[in-house]
Amino acid sequence: NDTHVYEIRVVPFESDKWTLIVRDITELHQLEQMRKDFIANVSHELKTPLTVMRGYLEITEDLEGIDSAMWDKAHTMMVEQTTRMDDLVSQLLSLSKMERQDTPADIVTLNIPRMLNILVNEAVSLSNNKHNITFDIDETLTVKGNESELRSAFSNLVFNAVRYTPFGGNISIVWKLTKSGKAKFSVKDDGVGIEAAHIPRLTERFYRVDEARTRQTGGAGLGLSIAKHALANHNSKLEITSKIDEGSVFSFRLPKALVVKQ
Ligand code: ADP
Repeated sequence: NDTHVYEIRVVPFESDKWTLIVRDITELHQLEQMRKDFIANVSHELKTPLTVMRGYLEITEDLEGIDSAMWDKAHTMMVEQTTRMDDLVSQLLSLSKMERQDTPADIVTLNIPRMLNILVNEAVSLSNNKHNITFDIDETLTVKGNESELRSAFSNLVFNAVRYTPFGGNISIVWKLTKSGKAKFSVKDDGVGIEAAHIPRLTERFYRVDEARTRQTGGAGLGLSIAKHALANHNSKLEITSKIDEGSVFSFRLPKALVVKQ
């Protein structure tokens, strides 16, 4: 929006004169707001699993009063919530690492086809065989890049496709060389889709389209912002096309300079 924020200072000089200093602090104000939002979001995301865990700890305090089914349930829930917190903290650490990076991350020749084949297997297990996952991976195509950054870009897109596509849906994963010599990765799904107004905001930290629906999938809204940073470090960017109720395509192209063709 076009709202600006100004700081106005009155500075006296001599006995009866003064200067009015007007400074546009819109950007500063926005940064400060983002910092506050960030802290609020992180606190909220950590507090939710802690509250659930405390609830179960209180139930299990009275060891005589609970049966073994309840104990099993409490145990499962506590493991689940610990995993959730662990995932969140790992995501925050990788974001902050990428944001602070003053020296470029290790860039080496990677084995992307191998990485993608492993990822497809993980996607199949996440899907519990409830989706039709197809893949077309050019086994001779790889790139130079940072292993953990590119893996997080690939995996966030693939796992999102599984998480936001109802059972029975189709997901197709493609890794190929484009005509102009770039390495292109794309994940297409026929899942829930995204309204146009949300698309530009998806890579913001903690941004989720539908809080209620996303809660069940367990994501904190950091995956795509991590992907965005990882890709920026490889001179690439995320491309998103989507239609509500029809599905989405998330893709990116890695520059020719990074491509290694075997
Ligand atoms: P989250 O942890 O919530 O999945 P992401 O940053 O990975 O966070 O994604 C942000 C939001 O973008 C998600 O909450 C979801 O609303 C939307 N989204 C991401 N991928 C898809 C997809 N393939 N189909 C529909 N919506 C998606």
